[in-house]
Order: sequence, then C-alpha cells, then structure tokens
Amino acid sequence: MVNVTDINVMKPLLAEHGFHFSKAKGQNFLIASWVPENIALESGVDKSVGVLEIGPGIGPLTQQLCRNAAKVCAVEVDNRLKPILDITVGEFDNLEIIWNDVLKLDVPGLVKEKFEGLRPMACANLPYYITSPILTALLEAECFEAVTVMVQKEVAQRIAAKPGSADYSAFTVFCQYYAEPELLFDVPPHCFLPAPKVTSAVITLRTRKEKPWEILDQDVFFRTVRASFAMRRKKLSNGLASGFPELGKQGAAEVIEAAGFDANVRGETLSIPEFAAIANEIVRRRG
Ligand code: SAM
Repeated sequence: MVNVTDINVMKPLLAEHGFHFSKAKGQNFLIASWVPENIALESGVDKSVGVLEIGPGIGPLTQQLCRNAAKVCAVEVDNRLKPILDITVGEFDNLEIIWNDVLKLDVPGLVKEKFEGLRPMACANLPYYITSPILTALLEAECFEAVTVMVQKEVAQRIAAKPGSADYSAFTVFCQYYAEPELLFDVPPHCFLPAPKVTSAVITLRTRKEKPWEILDQDVFFRTVRASFAMRRKKLSNGLASGFPELGKQGAAEVIEAAGFDANVRGETLSIPEFAAIANEIVRRRG
C-alpha cells in the first residue's frame, strides 16, 4: 500500500500529476500516519459497516477505512485527484468514489442504495470551510450509527459543550439533539500539508436511537433554540419575544413562567429538555 502520509512519497506523487493544493476546497492533507489509523480505529468501523467518507483527498483515511469496513463510498469534489487516487486506493475492491459535491447529494438515498444490509457510519477529515453544512446534512439524514470527523478544535469543543459554558451554542443543541458527542483526540497543525493555522480535533457523534425528551413540534423547538442564543447576554424573554413576535413581551414572559422557569432565566443555561419544555409551551399556547 502506498504510504501517502509520508511526504517523501506524497510530494513527488503530487508533483508528477501537477497537483496544487486548493485553499478554496479546504485541502490540508494528512502527513502523520497515526492520525488516519486512529480515526479509523476509534470510529468503530468494522466488517459489518458501510462508511461514507467525505473528501478522501489522496486517500490516507480511505486506505484505513477500506481495510476495516465492508464497504466505503468516498465523495470527492476535486476530480484532479482521480489519477492519484487510482494509484493510492485503486487496489481496494470495496471502494466506490463518487465525484461530486457532498452538499448536492441525497445522503439518505445514497446510504440506502449503497449500504444495504450494513451498519452505516460516516467518517471524514472535513474541509473546514463547510464543516457546519456537512455535519448538518449528516445528522439530519438520521441514517448513520455514528459520525466521526476531524474538525477545528474550537468547533469540536462547541459541539460537545455543556449548558452554561462559553462554547454552548445553538449548533451544540442541534448536534446533541441528534447525537451524543465524544471528543477523541487533538491533532496539531504540523500533521498536515499545508499546515493549518489552528489545532484540529477528532470527535465522534453517536446518533440517538431514541430521543429522551418529548418535543411537540421540531420546527418550534429549533426556533426556540435559535431565538434563545440570538441574544445571549439578555434574558430569555427578550430573545423569545424577538424570535416569536406573535408572543409579544408579555406572552414570552408567560411562556417562561408556565414552563416552570424563573423570569430572569438565560437561554444559554438551558439543557435540551428545558428548551423542549419552553418550545412545547409555545406550541400549547397556539392551541
Ligand atoms: N482526507 C484527506 C486527508 O485527510 O488528507 C483530505 C482532507 S482535506 C481536509 C478535505 C477534502 O475534502 C479535500 O480532498 C477536498 O478536495 C474535499 N472537499 C472539499 N469540498 C468538498 C465537497 N463540497 N464535497 C466533497 N469533497 C470536498
């Protein structure tokens, strides 16, 4: 197997094909073999699993996933990488490469078509410029057992944050609504070519089979969350009144009281069941 994380192998390979890194496509390729090995290991991928990989690049993680999984579908937007991937992962007959923008794909449809009879998982060293839209699509697809990704460390901390902490955000609630996150390990900038400015981290999101709370209307729930974080430093009633103008200030205060909270409560301290209690109260008032 070609050791694509060895820069003495990688650089001549890229040069031979006239390949130049595209910043716009978020191309920072791994040059430390322990990273893709550990991502594949910690992701829990085994021979019962079908893996969707996003952005194989020149294939360091793809190689590890192909060794461990029953099947790998890797989605890559940059078809300049085709002749290089032919060399680095051409030997694997359990790999299919889909030359497309992952954000243009019907992810649940793809998983159904490609991974029948397998446990679907997603795994990637994500292009950082579209981390949130990709994670949103993977979680909303509600078809993966687990999603293991490398992202900027700051984003990983936001995903795994606890209520009331500085990192807790609407994106935290979104991710934790669908999955339980676990921070796995940090990856310093020198593990990539070119080296990014920030530290990265690998995080796994194990999707919830059942959601341990009652939510009457998912749209109202997420509107409540967004409204609560839109005015972080203010009382929750201000955020709710602006996110739900139909409630007015008085109605927002009544909702908070009826849901059992203090009038001065701040949205950034609320857990998912607590957001659910407020959202459900808004739904009930609508009748
Ligand atoms: N997996 C490789 C590695 O770890 O060395 C490459 C990771 S690099 C951070 C991100 C990869 O995602 C690049 O290969 C890039 O071309 C690809 N990519 C960027 N935007 C994409 C998109 N919208 N859909 C699919 N792949 C994309």
